[in-house]
Amino acid sequence: MSRTFARRFQVATTGHDQMVDITAQVREAVTNSGIRDGLVCVFVAHSTAAVSVSEYESGLVEDVRLTAERIAPARADYAHNRLNADDNAHSHLRALVIGPSVTVPLVSGDLTLGTWQRIVLIDFDTHARTRTFWVQVLGE
Ligand code: ZN
Repeated sequence: MSRTFARRFQVATTGHDQMVDITAQVREAVTNSGIRDGLVCVFVAHSTAAVSVSEYESGLVEDVRLTAERIAPARADYAHNRLNADDNAHSHLRALVIGPSVTVPLVSGDLTLGTWQRIVLIDFDTHARTRTFWVQVLGE
């Protein structure tokens, strides 16, 4: 019979497209769940941050910053900033391109990540934040 397990985590970030490796927290939640086969969903509960899967090394961390700037330049005219006296329209737009969640199959107690794949949270906001993300495990 399948069941679910959910755990909430918080992570401190610097903002400005910082990519954080959260694989260890996800594995911890999976271990605590006792579930060995099913799906693991990782979801960030903010509209200026994203969750995905990536190789995690310093060159790629820098490339994410450069590519994010190409996708939605920080210094451009945005309605969100004009209408709300805000400064982070580019952060919202970068986050929505990548999306807030990723789902990874769980097989025989292991995440089915490839050798170089890590689960990453990217904070696109314009200042340091504490970010909340959820890990939900569904299976048996
Ligand atoms: Zn905003």
